[in-house]
Amino acid sequence: MSDHGSSGRLQVATAVLPGIAAAPGVAVGPALVLAPQQISYVRSSLRSSETEGEVARFRRAVLLAQEELRSLGERSSASRSEQSIIEAYLLMLGDETLASEVERRIHRERQCAEWAVSLAVEGFVSTLSAQSDPYLRERCHDFEFIGERLLMALTGASSRRAMPKLSGSVVLVAHEISPADLLALGREHLLAIATESGTRTCHTAIVARALEIPSVLGVSGLLSRVTSGDRLVVDGLRGSVTVRPTEEMVSSGHRRGQRHEALTRHLLHDIHRRTTLADGEPISLLANIEFSHEASFAVSHGAEGVGLYRTEFLYTDRNVLPSEDEQFEHFRAVLAALDGRPLVFRTFDMGGDKPIGNLSLPPQPNPALGLRAVRLALEHPELLLTQLRAMLRASAEGDVRIMVPMVASLREWREVQRLFEQAKEQIDARRQARARHVPFGIMVEVPSVALLIDHFAPHTEFLSLGTNDLTQYTLAVDRTSPQLSRLASHFDPAVLRLVRGVIQGAQAAHRPLTLCGAMAGDPLAILLLIGLGLRSFSMEPAVLPEIKEALHRVTLAEAQEVAAEAMQQSFAEDVEHLLASQFAHRLIDLLSGGAAD
Ligand code: PEP
Ligand code: MG
Repeated sequence: MSDHGSSGRLQVATAVLPGIAAAPGVAVGPALVLAPQQISYVRSSLRSSETEGEVARFRRAVLLAQEELRSLGERSSASRSEQSIIEAYLLMLGDETLASEVERRIHRERQCAEWAVSLAVEGFVSTLSAQSDPYLRERCHDFEFIGERLLMALTGASSRRAMPKLSGSVVLVAHEISPADLLALGREHLLAIATESGTRTCHTAIVARALEIPSVLGVSGLLSRVTSGDRLVVDGLRGSVTVRPTEEMVSSGHRRGQRHEALTRHLLHDIHRRTTLADGEPISLLANIEFSHEASFAVSHGAEGVGLYRTEFLYTDRNVLPSEDEQFEHFRAVLAALDGRPLVFRTFDMGGDKPIGNLSLPPQPNPALGLRAVRLALEHPELLLTQLRAMLRASAEGDVRIMVPMVASLREWREVQRLFEQAKEQIDARRQARARHVPFGIMVEVPSVALLIDHFAPHTEFLSLGTNDLTQYTLAVDRTSPQLSRLASHFDPAVLRLVRGVIQGAQAAHRPLTLCGAMAGDPLAILLLIGLGLRSFSMEPAVLPEIKEALHRVTLAEAQEVAAEAMQQSFAEDVEHLLASQFAHRLIDLLSGGAAD
């Protein structure tokens, strides 16, 4: 099936691209493709009457980029060598070869200026990178830099990714979208998201679920198959993106989306009933949140409190780090929305796959193994003290506990405890209010802590199992890599053994334990965890209703029996099959998001 549409663009056949089901729901709508460059723009084709204007826009962008570079060179701090590099860039920007290639693309290919600049630069870069002369090869970076400056001038972008202003509803398509980009775009016009990178547990997926935007991530070859305006069906339940669907596929997409919404409505109807298993065994369900405004959403979805507040999102996408007062205001807002329910703050977990705002840190070849979370906090104690003080002040206004992520050794934990005491002294010296006692605990997400749980547990007041990272570090699988996501199963027997050990260690030391990784939001996994002895879980608020319903359908004895058998297995797949064979028929509506065909 291929024809030439009225726009003259080649229409190609329907394609169903598999990806990772990252946020539930099904949506149908036109694609808006953000180009893969760091600076985003919409790749649009021009009408012939628009080309002259576009060339003029490109020329103005050249002048603007030159002006900006000149002012960089005129800074009093600019060294002589910086000035000479800038001179060279100014010449490259004014180079006729680049300009004529861009203008040719605008006139002949009808590409908008941004698109023309990107492809022209790409062309130069690929020619240069094929040269044997290392000097010429190095010039690639110069061309990339020039291209970036031109795109910034064209889009009006600063160092931050520029986002288009959306008017109609679209499916956002990109190589990658950061949580900050999503927030900048806003929920209002986004029908769905499809990206080439990302996994179920990356932070973009977490934010997409929090904003209830159906999303499929990790779709390989997406950008080469989709053009802005193409109709798409994004199925965030199955994990597929259908490009240029048939009418039948569109109707099925609408139907599945509506059934999912109907199930969600049905589950929300009775959301505030107590959470128990079928035999009445009580289970505690809490919410994971990233932003203060999610707290009321969590409560409306049945959360008994917040079991994980990922505070690092206060630090991202901004030039100045948040002050103590600013953080305090956010924390108060969350506590007000929780209306007496408990709140577990997690001190910032920056680094890893989470950006660090403007904090200038040396590049890290392995961010997940680098200066992340508590390591960063101990390197910059003032950052942690500021945050701890804000949390302690908030403790005067609600039920507050504080935990620390990525602890890997007892020595680190001791140092953090010392800083916690220091923060309390600082608050007391200022005569500010705080709760007399604020429980202080750790996340168990590094295998070293799980293995030494009998040493850690007695020195903490509570524990929280972070199975996203525990799985990543136990199996040595990068949690952000879509290619590897099938290797990173929380059903892996090695992960389950560590989890069981932590549950037993916490019980032996009489320490409360909650599990807050994505495992808690997986209906089959949570039944296994209950069978292993866990009773408290924290998960994304969007999945609370279906988890609550799943628990109502299974007894404790059934969960214990399956867990015992699961612990005998050697393969993650066997554990999953075992759970599915026992429970899937009873949970089919929940597992399919209400859209079983
Ligand atoms: C985890 O690692 O399981 C966790 C809950 O923390 P995060 O996903 O924020 O790293
Ligand atoms: Mg973690």
